[in-house]
Amino acid sequence: MIRGTIVVANEICKGCELCITSCPQESLGLSDRINSIGYRYIVLVKDNCTGCVNCALVCPEAAITVYREKKSALKARESAFVASGGLSV
Ligand code: SF4
Ligand code: SF4
Repeated sequence: MIRGTIVVANEICKGCELCITSCPQESLGLSDRINSIGYRYIVLVKDNCTGCVNCALVCPEAAITVYREKKSALKARESAFVASGGLSV
């Protein structure tokens, strides 16, 4: 299972919502805030992104960057965090 996340360039998003409708995970929504060009911009509303890249491919502004991480790598990082004295979840 691949885990992913996105970073949105808030200042160039035009709130067209194409990315929202393209996301199979329903991970995206519009912010309540407005950017400097007058649009509500996109934010992650659920922590279930798989990094499928659909949203980035449909964005006419190229405002979305997708990052992916394998679950095994994520587990290893969590284990290292707990071993170093971090909080267990
Ligand atoms: S597709 Fe791009 S411009 Fe449109 S709402 Fe999503 S991030 Fe913003
Ligand atoms: S990468 Fe895929 S799952 Fe993640 S927010 Fe974009 S469309 Fe949704």
